[in-house]
Amino acid sequence: MPSYYIARRPQADGTHVLHERAKCPPDCFPAREDAEYLGELLDAFQAIALVRLNYRHVNGCLWCATEVHELGTEAEVAWPAARGAAGQRAGHMPATLA
Ligand SMILES: [Zn+2]
Repeated sequence: MPSYYIARRPQADGTHVLHERAKCPPDCFPAREDAEYLGELLDAFQAIALVRLNYRHVNGCLWCATEVHELGTEAEVAWPAARGAAGQRAGHMPATLA
């Protein structure tokens, strides 16, 4: 599975950029001390979900994580719901489930 990294240092707009090491050009990938290893993950969407537990604003790298590049505000709003759904699967059935 691909190895994902998040840049600890935010960009000028305050977003932290997600990178996949194997696909990222060397001049784009963050410096060693700035790259936080996330692990070997299924895909960039899983990586983004994981990153969002710690960072409020995240974006996929333009070169190596294109499937999650500029997901936009809509996607950011959707993430807590997605995490909630994942939690429901792991735990008990919600009472509101119709
Ligand atoms: Zn990259």
